[in-house]
Amino acid sequence: MNIKEFLRCIIYLFGFLLYYSGLFYFIIELRRRRAKIITYHDITDKDNPFIKGMNISLSTQTFRKQLSFIYKYYNVVSLHKVVSDIKHNSPKKKQISITFDDGYKSFKKNAFPILIEFSFPSTIFLVSKCLIDKKFMWKNILRFLCNKYSEEETISIVNKILNKRGLLNSVSTVKKIEDLQTYYSKDTLELICDELIKNFYDQIKEELNNDNLYLTIEDCKKFPIGLVKIGNHSYFHYLFSKLTEKEIDKEIVQSCKLLKNAFGFSPNFFAYPQGIKVVNANIVEEIAKANSIGSMFYASGCDNKYGSDLYKLDR
Ligand SMILES: [Zn+2]
Repeated sequence: MNIKEFLRCIIYLFGFLLYYSGLFYFIIELRRRRAKIITYHDITDKDNPFIKGMNISLSTQTFRKQLSFIYKYYNVVSLHKVVSDIKHNSPKKKQISITFDDGYKSFKKNAFPILIEFSFPSTIFLVSKCLIDKKFMWKNILRFLCNKYSEEETISIVNKILNKRGLLNSVSTVKKIEDLQTYYSKDTLELICDELIKNFYDQIKEELNNDNLYLTIEDCKKFPIGLVKIGNHSYFHYLFSKLTEKEIDKEIVQSCKLLKNAFGFSPNFFAYPQGIKVVNANIVEEIAKANSIGSMFYASGCDNKYGSDLYKLDR
């Protein structure tokens, strides 16, 4: 068990104790004047090889249980409503909004029908290159190869590429490969991804041409407008902290343009890829403002005070 898994166990245990001791109710009361925005990714009862291992999936049963809890103790509102109340520093009690990142198809198949049962509104943050160009994010390709074919072979190919470029001696696990995004530029990640696809092309070409992983424009247009809103989750989900100013500009401008072409409007909300804070946030915010983005979201697990900076909201 590594440190992250150990910490996760401690958090689960803590949550378990809070819940069964009833103490959670006091914590909810104490923080009732904070706006909560929660994030989900994949809701499924069947492992998807493109996602399995990423720790972003939740069973439909757990999802329903969580929504029942939220229904009982919180007031679920749209992201637009919560952002508007934060903007006008108009605190509301126990307000919460539900969001989904990455635009996985499981939102339509599994999450949406359960949200409807509760009449809960939600916002889906879409990666425009996945939605419109039907391209796969490199983290999904990597997981797919490891889950469906060979983790050993995938790791060995990545090591060969890294060594050839004199970048790093070796990576030993798929998690370490995923962590490369925190070290290397977008170009290096694209190179790794291209090489992996080339090596496994015959085995994966059919899988890379299906519509089963991400939502399509048609899927999104079928959701009731009042219940499902669309947010921007960048052009191709690269970590902004590893991009140049020019590349960040492209990620924002391109995604706004593509979403506008697809839906007739450019979303007001933008969620940072991986939810990670960036050092050059001011530059990113200026680019966002110039592209009519009204609020930006990190994902550090904190609540929001009413009156907070709309470009530094947390989920
Ligand atoms: Zn994401």
